[in-house]
Amino acid sequence: MIELNERLLDGENVDLLIVGGGITGAGIALDAASRGLKTILVEKGDFASGTSSTSSKLIHGGIRYLKNRDFKLVFEALRERGLLLRLAPGLVKPLPFLIPVYDGGFRHIKKLVQWFFNPEKTTMMELIKAPLALRMSVALYDLFAGKRKIRKHQILSRKDVLSIEPMLSPSGLKGGAIYWDAFGLDFRLTLNVVKKAREYGANCLNYAEVLEFLMENGKVVGARIRDRLNDKTYRIFARKVVIAAGPWVDEVRAKAGIKQRMLRPTKGSHIVVPRDRLKINNAVVMEAMDGRLTFAIPWDDLVIVGTTEIEYYDSPDEVRITKDEVDYLLEVANRYFPSAELGYRDIITTYSGVRPLIDERGLSATDVSREHRVVEGPEGIITIAGGKLTTYRVMAKDVVDRITEKECLTHSIQLKEQCTDFPVDIDEDIREYMVQVYSKDEIERIAELIEENPHLKERILPDHPHIWAEVNFAIEQEFAVRLSDVIIRRLGLYFKESNGEVAKQIAEHMGKLLGWDSQHIDAEVEDYLSEVKKNMGWKKEVAGE
Ligand SMILES: Cc1cc2nc3c(=O)[nH]c(=O)nc-3n(C[C@H](O)[C@H](O)[C@H](O)COP(=O)(O)OP(=O)(O)OC[C@H]3O[C@@H](n4cnc5c(N)ncnc54)[C@H](O)[C@@H]3O)c2cc1C
Repeated sequence: MIELNERLLDGENVDLLIVGGGITGAGIALDAASRGLKTILVEKGDFASGTSSTSSKLIHGGIRYLKNRDFKLVFEALRERGLLLRLAPGLVKPLPFLIPVYDGGFRHIKKLVQWFFNPEKTTMMELIKAPLALRMSVALYDLFAGKRKIRKHQILSRKDVLSIEPMLSPSGLKGGAIYWDAFGLDFRLTLNVVKKAREYGANCLNYAEVLEFLMENGKVVGARIRDRLNDKTYRIFARKVVIAAGPWVDEVRAKAGIKQRMLRPTKGSHIVVPRDRLKINNAVVMEAMDGRLTFAIPWDDLVIVGTTEIEYYDSPDEVRITKDEVDYLLEVANRYFPSAELGYRDIITTYSGVRPLIDERGLSATDVSREHRVVEGPEGIITIAGGKLTTYRVMAKDVVDRITEKECLTHSIQLKEQCTDFPVDIDEDIREYMVQVYSKDEIERIAELIEENPHLKERILPDHPHIWAEVNFAIEQEFAVRLSDVIIRRLGLYFKESNGEVAKQIAEHMGKLLGWDSQHIDAEVEDYLSEVKKNMGWKKEVAGE
């Protein structure tokens, strides 16, 4: 049985206390620890249980930000994309994007002129319907990527587009373009950054919540933290406290008496459908009915369709997709792929997250910049908000540069090695998956677990490459303590199968490792299923309940 030890020391003094274990907090923990700062990170739920597991999973420059002339952001994000492809191979991998253009023609030159003088009045798709603008956008994107360009863009004829994506609607199709970006498993990327931060000495804890801040003469000197695993509270004193709480930033700042809001949060939702129902070979860029750019993104045997963007001021803990959003995403997908005839029955799962966008008055939610902002004060506190998954490393650097003059090292810290071999006689799809997700030393440990117990190489679900040894590994090496940690954010099974059938089996397996009795096992299953039910609540709306 695996023991859980006391994880904090009451009264401990550190250089840095980070609140929030999404990609932003994890990135700061790694940066700070690698520069020699004594660091503790606390996350109230599981690592990446907030926005960092609910993104579109794109490691991208963001071609649509060109429209807003957000050139600095695109340039920076493309540089980070190049770096992440090298620092986390397999977890971050190249992906071609197809922009099909319908009803193009020279009348769209007018739109181009309009954009030049008034970018907020033009949508990206309106803009790139002008052949010149399409060429300019993809060429500029490649130019900004510079040496880190993945592959050169291509301009395609109507015939070319249909030959590579035969399910696309031919009606009104004029042509298109291919450009390259990358796909990254957000929850595993966050976890790898946490693991690396721990290797450098940061104490990163999930299920540890900041209850309140400790003040001395008007200065924040630390926080009172509840370890939710043993229900004890601890006082941690810190030279600096960094709030990296994503969409919870304003809520956490309020605990330090800061009333001024930083965020203008928006909700974004996705539906996931089987790839054999939406057979695409590239990520496809689609224009939604309101002009928003939406994507169909292939992920193994699934396609993620998203996202929506809706202002959202309720608790991020309660975010979920509505039937209206499901309808919106189905409608976009069916406009581009009418022969798929996608319906509610095709949806495997859905998920929603809240973007921690900076409040920029006067701009629509879609036009709000994805740049981050760092705010210092009141004394003892630094807050970071905004930004993107892709740019987490520069965001972290921006924070840690304010705390130490030591040089940032994260551009050269490998988050995962390139692996090719899984030393177990196993099916090819499992081998492929293993080398994509795990580092060499992790693969060796998983192989050892299988040597100790050959049953662990069996599949958890017949159609997916996940094996039982991963559950042992997630508990032993990846800080998974709850059933939902394993199913959602270690194996990502939730995204592939949300009917919960496998939950009981995994809970029983975990129960043997963690010493759970049958009551505990049932409680974990119930808890996980209620999370699934919350995410799939739109089904009730469909049924008219
Ligand atoms: C729909 C959608 C699609 C997106 N797609 C992309 C994309 O494709 N590419 C891209 O680059 N970016 C994308 N983004 C943006 C990106 O996902 C976010 O910018 C990023 O994940 C934010 O990370 P974070 O760590 O700041 O916040 P989070 O991941 O939300 O982490 C904050 C953490 O703070 C914790 N916390 C809150 N209160 C406390 C407390 N009191 N004590 C301790 N911990 C606390 C929370 O539990 C949470 O885990 C997308 C965002 C959304 C919503």
